[in-house]
Amino acid sequence: MLVLCNIWLMSKLTIKIYPDKILRQKSGRVRKIDGPLRQLASDMIETMRHANGVGLAAPQVGETKRIIVIEAVENNPLPLVLVNPNLLKRRGRSSFCEGCLSVPEVTSEVARPEFIAVEALDLKGEVLKIETGGLLARIIQHEMDHLNGILFIDRIGFLKRKKITKTISSKVCMEL
Ligand code: ZN
Repeated sequence: MLVLCNIWLMSKLTIKIYPDKILRQKSGRVRKIDGPLRQLASDMIETMRHANGVGLAAPQVGETKRIIVIEAVENNPLPLVLVNPNLLKRRGRSSFCEGCLSVPEVTSEVARPEFIAVEALDLKGEVLKIETGGLLARIIQHEMDHLNGILFIDRIGFLKRKKITKTISSKVCMEL
């Protein structure tokens, strides 16, 4: 019943697209976990799912708050909501192809630490500690970058990035 109610209350938000300036802002810490924040989290989950994404950060929907949502992974059936995530440890290095809902039609190999330990609050205000590797570690790092105004295209080589910027500009021109 509660789940059904949550679904009714969800609504889809507009995803900000590069080069929207809000994607370059540093998000502020969440000071209070209240109804409006829980609503934002629900709406972000709805928006992420509608766009077939596996993760979404608040600045991508125009809210400069330190909150990210991640689609259900591995054994956990529910999406993960991390408030004020803080990276405690990182180890190793791996490369994997990434895309971003805010940078449509661009994908690139990105190198990142392979294993991370993160501390965050959940929507009840309880402390979550996550030690993980693989896909989940990658999504968390990609989304945490958004909270600091960093996009995955900033983490790839200069020449490659130049090519991508060019592709995006010509695409924008064509849509005019
Ligand atoms: Zn992204």
